[in-house]
Amino acid sequence: MDQLTCEFLGFAKEKRADVVGIAPIERFADVPPDHHPASVFPETRTVVVVGKRITRGTLRGLEEGTQFDLYGQFGFSWLKDRALAITTIALATWLEDRRWESCPIQDLDPAIPPSGVAVQPSRPAPNVMIDVRQAAVRAGIAEIGYCGEVLTPWFGPRQRFQLILTDAPLAPTPMLEEPVCDQCRACARSCPLGALRGERTLTIAGKTMTVADIDWSACRRCQNGARPNGDHPAGKPDRLGALCVRSCVHHLEEAGRLKKGLSTPFRKRPAWARDSDGAIRLQEMS
Ligand code: SF4
Ligand code: SF4
Repeated sequence: MDQLTCEFLGFAKEKRADVVGIAPIERFADVPPDHHPASVFPETRTVVVVGKRITRGTLRGLEEGTQFDLYGQFGFSWLKDRALAITTIALATWLEDRRWESCPIQDLDPAIPPSGVAVQPSRPAPNVMIDVRQAAVRAGIAEIGYCGEVLTPWFGPRQRFQLILTDAPLAPTPMLEEPVCDQCRACARSCPLGALRGERTLTIAGKTMTVADIDWSACRRCQNGARPNGDHPAGKPDRLGALCVRSCVHHLEEAGRLKKGLSTPFRKRPAWARDSDGAIRLQEMS
């Protein structure tokens, strides 16, 4: 690995970035202009994906059904808007100190429509939303699991991402080859609203994955730890604390598929589940 990349990754570790992937811009060749990194920064040579974990303990209050704000702060708003943003800007300033322009990008759902007029006919209307989750796949650190969320070999679904678009010539991370999701369907079985059904294939930068067809209307009314999209009504709900994804965390750790599992099982008691009619029941341990 070249010296710039080696020093950059060392600095990222120092700044407590838990996951870092580097995608050359060529891996975005199939992305249309209204979602393409080069529409934001035309000289982009490299897309850096920066991830910070959701600590497993942050999911505990949701798992027990006794403390929902803990996740709302340390797993959601404070994590993305404070802790992760601070790490992302630290990495961007490190690159600019070495004279490489670096544009930090937050994780906003690409389903959010443009909110302005194009400044030239050849340019897409603002705001261009880059798919940060797909970028994590393009950067070689993740896949999309059957549940529809990003999974990494270190934390499964337990992290959030931001991007840095840069003209720095950083060495690419190879695409992830070993699957994280083993298609166990624990996510689908645990969903009290039956929102994960069937299957379809999804290909990103040549990597093909099997994912569920998701009934997003069910996820939008889910009361099992899902949260509304705080950025725009068109955005998908946040499901990283929902029962489906917590079941995935438990499964991946129990199956020994994560590099950063903990020493005790995540699911220590039967999980609670709220049906569409509001009734709460306990699920069987799997
Ligand atoms: S968010 Fe709720 S409704 Fe959607 S898949 Fe997960 S558990 Fe089911
Ligand atoms: S619970 Fe199983 S099938 Fe669902 S995303 Fe996780 S590993 Fe894949």
